[in-house]
Amino acid sequence: MTWGIIGAMPSEIALLETQMSNVKKETISGLSYQSGTIRGKDVVLCCSEIGKVNAAMCAQTLALRYNVGCMINTGVAGCTCEDLGVLDLVLSRDLVFHDYDWKLQEKYHPHTSRFPGDPKLIELAKKALEQIPGRDYQYKLGRIATGDVFVDDEDLRRSIIERTEPDCVEMEGAAIALVAYSNQIPCLVIRCMSDNANGDAGMSFDTFEKIAADHSAKLLLSMLELAE
Ligand code: SAH
Repeated sequence: MTWGIIGAMPSEIALLETQMSNVKKETISGLSYQSGTIRGKDVVLCCSEIGKVNAAMCAQTLALRYNVGCMINTGVAGCTCEDLGVLDLVLSRDLVFHDYDWKLQEKYHPHTSRFPGDPKLIELAKKALEQIPGRDYQYKLGRIATGDVFVDDEDLRRSIIERTEPDCVEMEGAAIALVAYSNQIPCLVIRCMSDNANGDAGMSFDTFEKIAADHSAKLLLSMLELAE
């Protein structure tokens, strides 16, 4: 099985790139795809760039051009729950969209509004988390809400929480999950909190982007190590 791995920003794939062997590069529709191996597993790694459309384009290419057996989105997000803070981590129990009436998706393709994380990938991630030496952050299985906006405003944060009850917000996960769902490919989104999606989000993001991105990538490395 080939693992399809997407990070939206260069910081989110940087650590993974350093661990990759036998790398072959190909550019498709302006995005660079790196095929190779990490921890002995076949992977295709891509930096999709930010936002739902870029992420969907990347995920569809992984499905059709590379026939990936699973899709993992690794990266950072803004925390919207009480029980986690910056540098803690969310595994996608499910993903929804927050920037339109998300229930509309039930009427139109792919006729569901919630995209669940794959149970086997969740179990593998939990196992990997327990084995990370000196792990000093919390994690939870939770809801991730996706939209084409950097959430750094209290009113918007409150409105998203009222409408979709997420544990964190970001800008790609549900788009990737929708593509994976449409192609019947197991999918998991891993997000480490870079900020609290409030008025301080910009500053917090700048401070914690790299370390949060690396936490998420390190978890994925442990998953690849543990995987059969
Ligand atoms: N200030 C940065 C913003 C990039 S967009 C810049 O100018 O480069 C933020 C990226 O991190 C997106 O890929 C998104 O998925 C994630 N993210 C982190 N915190 C977020 C938040 N509060 N709201 C939305 N997306 C967030």
